[in-house]
Amino acid sequence: MTEIAIIGGGPGGLMAAIALARRGVRTTVFEREDHPERMPRFNPDRSYPIDITGHGLKAVRHIDALTHFDAHLTAFHGISGRAWLSDPWLEPGWIGSRGDITRALMSVVEDRHHDMIDFVFHSEVRTVDVLAGEVAGQSFDLVIGADGAGSAVRAAMRDQVAGFTVETSSVPNYGLLLELDQVGEKLDKHCPNGLAVNPPTLAAVIRDEDKPDGVRWLSVIGLGKPITFTSPVQATTWLRKHCPRVLDLTSEQAISEFSRREYVHLGQRATCSQLYGGRAVLLGDAAAAFPPAGQGGNAALESAMVLDQCLAAGPPETVGARYNSAWKPEADAVSWIGAQVRYQDVRMILRMTLARAVGVDIGRLSKSSTRSYSDVRRAARRLGPIWA
Ligand SMILES: Cc1cc2nc3c(=O)[nH]c(=O)nc-3n(C[C@H](O)[C@H](O)[C@H](O)COP(=O)(O)OP(=O)(O)OC[C@H]3O[C@@H](n4cnc5c(N)ncnc54)[C@H](O)[C@@H]3O)c2cc1C
Repeated sequence: MTEIAIIGGGPGGLMAAIALARRGVRTTVFEREDHPERMPRFNPDRSYPIDITGHGLKAVRHIDALTHFDAHLTAFHGISGRAWLSDPWLEPGWIGSRGDITRALMSVVEDRHHDMIDFVFHSEVRTVDVLAGEVAGQSFDLVIGADGAGSAVRAAMRDQVAGFTVETSSVPNYGLLLELDQVGEKLDKHCPNGLAVNPPTLAAVIRDEDKPDGVRWLSVIGLGKPITFTSPVQATTWLRKHCPRVLDLTSEQAISEFSRREYVHLGQRATCSQLYGGRAVLLGDAAAAFPPAGQGGNAALESAMVLDQCLAAGPPETVGARYNSAWKPEADAVSWIGAQVRYQDVRMILRMTLARAVGVDIGRLSKSSTRSYSDVRRAARRLGPIWA
């Protein structure tokens, strides 16, 4: 019997555990945090709204979890904004926080697979022997690194596997979260609502049962350089100038919290020379971390599905090479797509507008459930100098 360890119980790790359980494969999931149901619903550093569209949808279908996603997230009906920003979505899709996604996946575990997946919560894995497959003193046939952008498994592979390298770079993208606590009926909760183009400002919901209508509205403002405010008054003046629409949707209290909140650097990128080494493989953000372009969660879910398909196709000893040839081109392509997004960069806004005019809007195309990320990148590159 194959023993598999999954490091990280985020969207990618849980998707992998469920997909494997469906085929009768047991796993042990090591997660440094608590069970998602015991975690706070709102964490201003992590509770940004995520939309799950075509790539995530394929994975959700793979584990037959549409009803669980319907129950834990809000249905996604497309982007709402000015005419050229609007983009209806006709397939199943969802909006929610990373926590909403992990709660949906945990409900699948609890309904169907609790006897096949062992969870070790509050266990931060610090050292992994990727050649021997050793984690926390136990030996495994396969170690799945699903431990996010700062992956300890990836670091171990870099130290222990000959020829394994990680290239890091960064773009100047920063995000500041503003809660919109006065939305009422003014916006459509089924759509991320575009409130400003420069700085890019999208408002969308996460689930929160403590709120009267069951959702909390959040807006992530994308900045080309870090910003800090010295007072709520200064923050209000800045919002009035740069994204005035939010002022109708939020309270003084929320602006006061916004003015004290730390911006988050969202522009980090890590690209691995390969996605396997020794007895370990990498998926999700651990395999390829890239600036948010609406795809990190989607790609994490899809990469776990692809890994499961590769495991089903042959023995676990050779899964690394199969998975690498299936997912590495996709990971590179979606990372390239993410790196094209530059907040408040006028050249990028022009590029996006030009590309959209000729039907190659990489943001829209990468939501598709029928086009691969590498296909989207190829289409973009055919436009020559518009995309780098
Ligand atoms: C502002 C913003 C907006 C975004 N919007 C979108 C969007 O609209 N659509 C979209 O698809 N994606 C979006 N993303 C990206 C998305 O959140 C991530 O790409 C996704 O969560 C990655 O999933 P993962 O499972 O690979 O990693 P993670 O979600 O990072 O999960 C990794 C897990 O591993 C655990 N862990 C880490 N290290 C260890 C360790 N050493 N030992 C044990 N456990 C460990 C962590 O606690 C965590 O639970 C956005 C990201 C940001 C920042």
